[in-house]
Amino acid sequence: MRSQIPLPVDELPTKWYNILPDLPEPLPPPKEPETGPSRMEFLARTMVKECLRQEMSSERWVPIPEEVRELYLHMGRPRPLYRAIRLEKYLGLKRVRLYYKREDLSPTGSHKTNTAVAQAYYAMKEGKTTLTTETGAGQWGTALSYAARLLGLDCVVFWVKSVYDWKTDRRTLMKLLGAKVYASPSQQTRIGREVFSKNPEHPGSLGIAISEGLEYAETHEDAVYCLGSVLNHVLMHQSIIGLETIKQFDLIDEKPDLIIGCLGGGSNFGGIALPFIGEVLRGKRECGFLAAQSMAAPNLVKGEYRYDFCDVAEYTPLLKVYTLGHKVEMPPIKADGLRYHAAAPIISLLKHHGLVKAVAYPTDEKAVFEAARIFLQSEGWLPAPESSYAIRAGIDEAIKAEKAGVEKVICMNISGHGFLDLMAYKEKLETG
Ligand SMILES: *Cc1c(COP(=O)(O)O)cnc(C)c1O
Repeated sequence: MRSQIPLPVDELPTKWYNILPDLPEPLPPPKEPETGPSRMEFLARTMVKECLRQEMSSERWVPIPEEVRELYLHMGRPRPLYRAIRLEKYLGLKRVRLYYKREDLSPTGSHKTNTAVAQAYYAMKEGKTTLTTETGAGQWGTALSYAARLLGLDCVVFWVKSVYDWKTDRRTLMKLLGAKVYASPSQQTRIGREVFSKNPEHPGSLGIAISEGLEYAETHEDAVYCLGSVLNHVLMHQSIIGLETIKQFDLIDEKPDLIIGCLGGGSNFGGIALPFIGEVLRGKRECGFLAAQSMAAPNLVKGEYRYDFCDVAEYTPLLKVYTLGHKVEMPPIKADGLRYHAAAPIISLLKHHGLVKAVAYPTDEKAVFEAARIFLQSEGWLPAPESSYAIRAGIDEAIKAEKAGVEKVICMNISGHGFLDLMAYKEKLETG
């Protein structure tokens, strides 16, 4: 039996899937808060116009521009689906079949390049020359640096200082790609200088870094601000993952019963799940969906469904989301990419309607790192710490079904590889 299920290059989807027209109820619209300036006007000034248009689109299928499709091919899409034969054997599975989608094969190590190249392309079309953003874990900053370089644009990344100081290898990769990378709080913006002058040792935060990215875009005519998760257009760009996966399952005449992805903001989970959920909503398929989270940020598991800001600094409009509160303190974990206070509005609505379920794993990450080790030793690929949450959930669900004597087909999304997270693995290895 073959483990790899490739998709021929000619089969790369030509359209993204936009779930908005298929949702069980209209997505609650963004709202302006009661005080302060218009957040909607602010975003219209600082973000890519085509992305904001896509945010509200009611078209189910949105053509992928030929240049973006070419970039997808260039960066190795379509990506293979794998049957986890070796992991199945390790777990002694007889009735359960396990599959995984390989977003770890991305050039910068995560699925985030799928939306980065699309956003960079539209920015270039709109005459912008500089992309700006913030990054926490570093995956988004790297993906946007990559996309900017391939499209001949500059990239300015504000990176939370405590992580900037620590992840030297990822910083090197961003700089090699030609990005300007600043530890945030930086000297480049008014807000950065203000925070810095009060406390030169400030470790930074995602909120400050977002403020710096937005201020930079607002004060530089040629610059636009890009976001890597949560928003509708980001999830739509990521639908390429699930659209490919549907074709791959069709090729082998198999139907998944459960799709699993890790979830921080929801872009990789949405990317693989939304095209399948669309078919469920249109009565064409039956399938379950499970988001794997950390107890450090269990927005779907423990959050409230209500309007909240997407950022600490309250620059964004209010979105209806499952949230822990935009000012909540989240304990540090190695899977830093999962530490976000709210789930995407689309995923939140689907959770509210019972179409998406969620599970959260303890912040010591023992169970999750054990799953990563099992996956590496059986399948041979080192997953990102974030992706290991999906693997943990996949293993748990497989064992549960096996014990119950149920036949089940499970598909996990491997959102990224762990080669630039070896420091985290080293620490876990040494401390147990
Ligand atoms: C950013 C990231 C995530 C979490 O973000 P989502 O928006 O929930 O997808 C997960 N895995 C990897 C490898 C990431 O880089």
